[in-house]
Amino acid sequence: MIGFGFDVHRLAEGESLILGGIPVESPFGTVAHSDGDVVLHALTDALLGAAGLGDIGEHFPDTDPQWRGAASSQFVLHAMMLLNEEGLKPVNVDVALTLEAPKIKQYKQPMRDHIAMLCSLPPERVNIKATTNEKLGYVGRGEGVQAYCVCDVQPAVG
Ligand code: MG
Repeated sequence: MIGFGFDVHRLAEGESLILGGIPVESPFGTVAHSDGDVVLHALTDALLGAAGLGDIGEHFPDTDPQWRGAASSQFVLHAMMLLNEEGLKPVNVDVALTLEAPKIKQYKQPMRDHIAMLCSLPPERVNIKATTNEKLGYVGRGEGVQAYCVCDVQPAVG
C-alpha cells in the first residue's frame, strides 16, 4: 500500500530547525508545539496513511501537553508500532523537502540514516530530496518549510 504525507511549519528567527531528526544550523527554525520536524511529521502521516490509520493530529493532538516540545522521532516510532500491530512494515520511504535556506546537502545522509533506523530499513531504502521554492510563495520568502513523503507499506513476513 502507498501512503502519502505532507507537513508545513512556519519559520521564525531564533527557533531551532530539526529536519529528519537532525539539527540543522540555521538562524531560522520552526514554530511548533512539538519540535516542528516537517520531515518526520510527513513521514508519520505517510506511514499512518498507508495503513488507513488516520493522521498525526488524531494520534498526537497539539492540545495535549504530553507532546509539547516532543521529539518527532517518537511519532514515527509510534506509527511503526501501530503498523507492526497490523502486521505491516514500510518497504521504502521517499521524502521531498522544500526550503529556501540553508542548503541541506550535508544533512541528507544523516537524515537517511536516522529515518532508516526509525523505520527498520536499510538507508538505501530511504531517499531524501531537497529543493528551494525558486523564491516563490511562502517557502520562497523563507516564511516556512514543508515536506512531502510517500512510502510503500507491505505485510511483514516471518
Ligand atoms: Mg507538523
